[in-house]
Amino acid sequence: MRARDEACVGVDLSGTNVRAAVVDAAGHVLGQERHRLLSKEPPQVAEAIVRAAKTACGAAGLPFGEVRALGVGVAGQVEKGTGLVASAPGLGWKDVPLQKLLQARASKLPMTLACDLAAAAWAERVAGAGKGADDLLVVLVGSTVGAGLVVSGKLHEGASGAAGDLAHVKVHPNGRICACGQRGCLDAYASAPSLAAWARDDLRIAAAAARASGKQPGIGRRLLDHAGGDPERITAAAMERAAHEGDELSSRLLDEAARLLGQAVANLIIVLNPERLLLGGGLLSGSPRMRRTVIEAVEQNLSRAARAALHIGAPALEEDAAVVGAALIAREALSR
Ligand SMILES: [Zn+2]
Repeated sequence: MRARDEACVGVDLSGTNVRAAVVDAAGHVLGQERHRLLSKEPPQVAEAIVRAAKTACGAAGLPFGEVRALGVGVAGQVEKGTGLVASAPGLGWKDVPLQKLLQARASKLPMTLACDLAAAAWAERVAGAGKGADDLLVVLVGSTVGAGLVVSGKLHEGASGAAGDLAHVKVHPNGRICACGQRGCLDAYASAPSLAAWARDDLRIAAAAARASGKQPGIGRRLLDHAGGDPERITAAAMERAAHEGDELSSRLLDEAARLLGQAVANLIIVLNPERLLLGGGLLSGSPRMRRTVIEAVEQNLSRAARAALHIGAPALEEDAAVVGAALIAREALSR
């Protein structure tokens, strides 16, 4: 009963789904709801968030009117304080006043909006594998690359809410073009969609070279088999399976992406000097090979001082992290 009296609702908003959960002070999920977004129009998304929050409350047996606060973790950049979503590529949003849209639909409810990665890091710090670590770095690699930072026991979101944007750290001068429009960003190599695009490009180059020399292209055969012969169906998961069977192209790209990722993470660790690094996300948890190579590259590139303090682990909350963290951030804001 007490846990429910103190409950907040967390929402995890991605480009395709909205997920809401009633979360107690210790970070336990008491009830939840998840559904696909039928529209990416901001008013409809705000509507879907409130609906999901209410359904989650129903599942937890908590009247919506008794919720203490609502926290929303958005896959994008959120301006601190105002709750303006500066950018959310998955939703195609730029400068969307999401907090205002939500307040129009639940005016009495205190609200806090944050980036989903910051929310995930805070959840790990309070209720997951980052418990007790005042200086914590959480790196998640999947459809994009991102980091959440806890510095001196506090969530670090940066002056404009963009801290931890590891995706657009430069790893190759004049390298591959990134979705952000710049060249050589880490995301253009190490996110799951970029890895697949990189493999497709290399296959195309190899096929053209083979045609020019009148030979059969041999490179990436196993990878193509895993994609049903269609380069457009290549995924990072197919690359992992093909690499396991000895496909050279897949192994080379997974290793190279992991090395670039490891270097970038090492640079971040040298600057921040955290005591714990949690390395996870869909791509790394599905690819033991890549995870191993990332850790090797992190260790190779660290300074002695940074290495001495560091412990490397994996996130404990995975899927629940953003929704739990969003609720915990909203709870924190109540006491400020
Ligand atoms: Zn970029």
